[in-house]
Amino acid sequence: MDKNNVSVVGAGTMGNGIAHVFALAGFDVKLFDINEDILNKAIGTIEKNLSRQVKKEIIKEEDKKSALERIKTSIDIGESGDCFIAIEAVSEDFEIKTGIFKKLDEVCPKDAIIASNTSSISITKLASLTGRADKVIGMHFMNPVPVMKLVEIIKGLATSKETFEEVMELSKKLGKTPVPVNDYPGFIANRILMPMINEAVYCLMEGVGEKEAIDEVMKLGMAHPMGPLTLADLIGLDVCLAIMEVLHKELGDSKYRPCPLLRKMVEAGYLGRKTGRGFYIYN
Ligand code: NAD
Repeated sequence: MDKNNVSVVGAGTMGNGIAHVFALAGFDVKLFDINEDILNKAIGTIEKNLSRQVKKEIIKEEDKKSALERIKTSIDIGESGDCFIAIEAVSEDFEIKTGIFKKLDEVCPKDAIIASNTSSISITKLASLTGRADKVIGMHFMNPVPVMKLVEIIKGLATSKETFEEVMELSKKLGKTPVPVNDYPGFIANRILMPMINEAVYCLMEGVGEKEAIDEVMKLGMAHPMGPLTLADLIGLDVCLAIMEVLHKELGDSKYRPCPLLRKMVEAGYLGRKTGRGFYIYN
């Protein structure tokens, strides 16, 4: 096990951001995904985001160059044999995550930590798939990872104090602000954010106000940088619906029932920015 080697599994939106911040902090990163095209695209995104940081004078050109040199890519998770921590950031699907957790448990050094960036799956449940539940933890980064300071550090029922403390320290080395959270559905961020977005959709459905009015009230009245419907479009309405469904199912309280309008928009394929249409229309 090498205290400088990190594995990041999943090179999508979150995985490439996680690889970016670890490499910039001086760690050697192995970034895994299912094919070379996705990995090449991820490296392109990291390069573009590092360049943006150079342009804004947040980092120097040399920092960008050395960070890129520290990231290696592979489609074989078996190459995680020397990492001290593996961070899983694959698609939010329990079956896929199960496969990855079992594989990481098999190939990572026995003292290595396995962290998940999941937004809604129980860390305790993921930990139970491994033979090292004390070394499994949640590191819930926010999107976009290179920009957002917060990382929710989620303690599963079996997560040890040592693992928790090490991951808190590690997050600070990445320049992030770690906040401890216990393992309950939605953690803190989504437990509070998603019901707020869901309520905004109810306000729209019931005609309490137009979409612009709902967003404007929350921006001007609550000093939110963007309104809840604009934010929902950015996150993806399918993601918002999936998280509301987890909160509803796992907490069993009707206050988490997803708004019928949110469900209807997802059924129509109006998923937000990524499909060009959500509550607003995008070009
Ligand atoms: P994404 O779809 O952009 O990326 C997921 C990646 O996982 C894809 O590149 C996919 O090819 C890869 N993948 C799927 N199966 C794999 C396998 N078997 N082996 C290796 N790679 C595999 O998703 P994302 O938005 O980056 O989300 C990843 C995780 O982060 C999810 O658990 C999500 O809940 C969480 N998260 C997302 C956000 C967000 O705003 N997008 C914020 C916080 C947390």
